[in-house]
Amino acid sequence: MTGQGGFIVKFFTRAAAWFGAQSGNEVKEDKEPIIIEPLRIPRDQHPISRSNISNGSLKVLYTLKDAGHEAYLVGGAVRDLLADIEPKDFDIATSAHPDEIRRLFRSCRLVGRRFLIAHVRMGEEILEVTTFRGPITDSHERDETGRILSDNVYGTLQEDAFRRDFTVNALYYDIRDFSIVDFAGGVEDLRQRSLRLIGDPELRYREDPVRMLRAVRIANKLGFSIAKDTAEPIHRLASLLREIPPARLFDEVLKLFLSRDAVANLKGLRKYGLFSHLLPLTDEALDADGPSVETLINRALANTAARIVADQPVTPAFLFAAMLWPAYAKRLEQLERKQGHAPPVAQVQAAEEVIAHQQLRIAIPKRFSLPMREIWSLQPRFENRRGARVKRLLSHPRFRAAYDFLLLRGQSGEPGAMELAEWWTQAQKGEDLPPLPREDHGRGPAPEQDEAPGAPGEAPKKKRRRRGGRRRRKPGEAPGGGEG
Ligand code: ATP
Ligand code: MG
Repeated sequence: MTGQGGFIVKFFTRAAAWFGAQSGNEVKEDKEPIIIEPLRIPRDQHPISRSNISNGSLKVLYTLKDAGHEAYLVGGAVRDLLADIEPKDFDIATSAHPDEIRRLFRSCRLVGRRFLIAHVRMGEEILEVTTFRGPITDSHERDETGRILSDNVYGTLQEDAFRRDFTVNALYYDIRDFSIVDFAGGVEDLRQRSLRLIGDPELRYREDPVRMLRAVRIANKLGFSIAKDTAEPIHRLASLLREIPPARLFDEVLKLFLSRDAVANLKGLRKYGLFSHLLPLTDEALDADGPSVETLINRALANTAARIVADQPVTPAFLFAAMLWPAYAKRLEQLERKQGHAPPVAQVQAAEEVIAHQQLRIAIPKRFSLPMREIWSLQPRFENRRGARVKRLLSHPRFRAAYDFLLLRGQSGEPGAMELAEWWTQAQKGEDLPPLPREDHGRGPAPEQDEAPGAPGEAPKKKRRRRGGRRRRKPGEAPGGGEG
């Protein structure tokens, strides 16, 4: 953290006093709501300036304030600015109710079933504006593991603070006087570089098991350690992730792995026994095959991270193709070698089985699972390095992703893959094809199974062509293989 030297130390004593109060000595439980005096860090004692905050957020904050509502910047943005990290997005918390928010902004959409969130558009930006949440009570609907299913009670700023997950995520930047409001000791935890859940950790994980994933991700993002009592229950409660809808886990997995901290996140998830509930086949492959699988996956994650740092596009299709490749390759071998399936049939079946198994945990949308299958099914075609097949593969819409994947296989030490990748590197450069290695001269080409697929996932209906023969397209069948 930079540039905020004294303020944290100054308020530490009050934070400690607050923790004392929370442990039950000073605040008496009675029927009156307990009002906790938060720490207030005035503008001249913290480093967040309006120039760090996006124009859209400032407009929303001022509009809410001018209409007589409380309005705060909250969550990751305040946390990241205090930790000297550029915020990813700006979240706003307000006393205004969703219908009041909607009336104030021209472009506003209410989303969410469990809890209404207003998405306010300001130019290019979309800001998430949430009404203060009320405390969890017995009236909240839960499942048998304690997970909160419905959540629609509004509350005060203080109540909102205690509904948030980690202390460092419960800091509020007040647009009235630019001070920071801290109910939960987040400022002190930032100083200690410690990620701590608010309240009883086990209870908070049971309310929402995704907080276990958030603990790993946010700790790595900030370079913080997870506080002992916050870390302790994770291993024990990891299996609660099975209760989370696969669509939500897909979003969380992308945040974990399409990230500059992807490698550390994988390590953290494995350490806490969380990964086996997200990608069980990958977890098994890592346990069974150890180093080579680990190299492939870590390389894929490190490449992704490097692309994110360099502001290059990344796709979940490539990521999942890499994560699930060891399981796919193993199943393919079983089907081909042990069960004697022909390669094209085995490929379709292996892909189908591995993806179906994965979908039980994480809902990978078709727009990613289809190109992922294609990356896999193009791999054997790199072995055909003769004549027109080469040109056809080079102009395949998914060539680039498949070639990058071949390189990845090569870099992670898969026998023969690097030599093949180098040949294709050359082939992309010139008019003349590079010479084939000696052992390839006598070898017949592998069948082209996927040049013009029918419905993805369908076993090829056509018979295998005779070598060199031309195949006629069926009416309605797409020319070329990719779906763009
Ligand atoms: P980042 O945006 O960097 O991923 P973030 O902490 O801002 O991190 P968001 O998902 O944007 O994450 O959530 C915004 C805020 O909402 C959090 O800082 C936290 O206060 C609150 N929050 C998010 N998820 C939960 C949760 N599962 N339980 C309780 N509070 C949550
Ligand atoms: Mg955020």
